[in-house]
Amino acid sequence: MANTNTADVVIVGGGIIGCLTAYYLTRRGLKPIVIESDAIASGASGTSAGWLTPYSHTCDPAMIALSPASLRLHAELAATLPGITGIDHGYREAPYIRCAISNDGVLELREFQTQRAAEGVEMEWLSGEEALALSPWITADIVAGLRSDNEPTLDSYRLTMSAMQAAEIGGARMVTGKVTGLIEPDESGATRTAFGVLLEDGSEVRGDTVVLAMGPWCGEAAAWLDHPVPVTPQRGQIVHLAPPDERDGPQLEIGMNIIEHGGSLIGKRLGDAIVAASRDSVGFDRSTTNEARNELLINAARLSDRINNAQISGQTACLRPISADGRAYVGQVPGWSNAYLATGHSGEGIHYGPVTGAAIAELIADGVTQYDIAPLSPARAGTTPV
Ligand SMILES: Cc1cc2nc3c(=O)[nH]c(=O)nc-3n(C[C@H](O)[C@H](O)[C@H](O)COP(=O)(O)OP(=O)(O)OC[C@H]3O[C@@H](n4cnc5c(N)ncnc54)[C@H](O)[C@@H]3O)c2cc1C
Repeated sequence: MANTNTADVVIVGGGIIGCLTAYYLTRRGLKPIVIESDAIASGASGTSAGWLTPYSHTCDPAMIALSPASLRLHAELAATLPGITGIDHGYREAPYIRCAISNDGVLELREFQTQRAAEGVEMEWLSGEEALALSPWITADIVAGLRSDNEPTLDSYRLTMSAMQAAEIGGARMVTGKVTGLIEPDESGATRTAFGVLLEDGSEVRGDTVVLAMGPWCGEAAAWLDHPVPVTPQRGQIVHLAPPDERDGPQLEIGMNIIEHGGSLIGKRLGDAIVAASRDSVGFDRSTTNEARNELLINAARLSDRINNAQISGQTACLRPISADGRAYVGQVPGWSNAYLATGHSGEGIHYGPVTGAAIAELIADGVTQYDIAPLSPARAGTTPV
């Protein structure tokens, strides 16, 4: 007979989304099981740049509207999780500076500032000299800069591990295995119900509710749900810079980029500074390439000549879960009484992890959520062109 586990909620995927969903469910008295085919945080959640910004990817208005709530939850997690698990996840509130080195860049910066102002976020305009004065790391010939007050950074591997550990302390469990489908009753009505999930080894995990949080692999669930899940992988590479010793000058304390070139230099409270990140579509290939590393370093050196003397401590590549329309899929799956999707956060899943986990936990526990995730409904995947 098949080995069977049971839980209140079955969560497929042990990345930031699955682990924070588990954590918030335990806070509401539910006991979930997280099923992970590899290891907790083995996907992009473990090797992201850990920069909490809503502006790195698509700037989708429905996502941006959720950004302040997610930032508030991040601050709350930073204040509470280390006390529960003993894991410091390196959260640091810090400004971020976008720089322009040409007139075209100045226009782009102005447009960015105007868009943010329309969303209610004021960013400070800086002359080239003022931008230069903000960090000894900026050595380029800057024409203008735009300072954003708070785009925090953290270590997303530690946050994901800490969320899972806090969930386990609250009664969650983890099961290792690859999910291959949903368990359904022999006769389903118009609205289908999942009794749980099937694993590759023939075992089952049964539960009242199923949450699919498989990141870029969520597309596989379309066949299980009989509903489109237009999420695809996009590879991103990061170069890690060892902290300079005192002779080489100060640590990188804040984040910065050149708006004309994209990419980012991001200081961390724990561990290495980061040069982020490349983008290419090569399926599920997670290997690093010299081409991506060189391009990242060349772009970063346009902003800071310190890059030329920095010690490279490593490089990593991982996969963003890219949704077809630039907006995550968060909510109940149409046609199912108890199946939820939480995926497609593209390059901003760490930033939006808390609001996603909290919203799904509220929906499951209470039937409603205080967060406006209606525009993120998976129902649109069946109706809008993708
Ligand atoms: C280079 C790079 C830099 C980034 N930087 C940032 C940043 O600075 N800020 C930010 O907010 N975001 C950033 N992101 C995006 C962010 O990392 C992702 O959006 C986020 O990690 C996605 O989390 P997830 O839990 O949805 O997916 P994942 O972390 O991919 O986790 C999904 C998990 O599901 C498991 N799984 C898949 N299929 C199955 C199955 N069938 N059965 C069991 N388990 C399964 C996988 O093994 C995996 O562990 C970055 C991404 C990249 C690539």
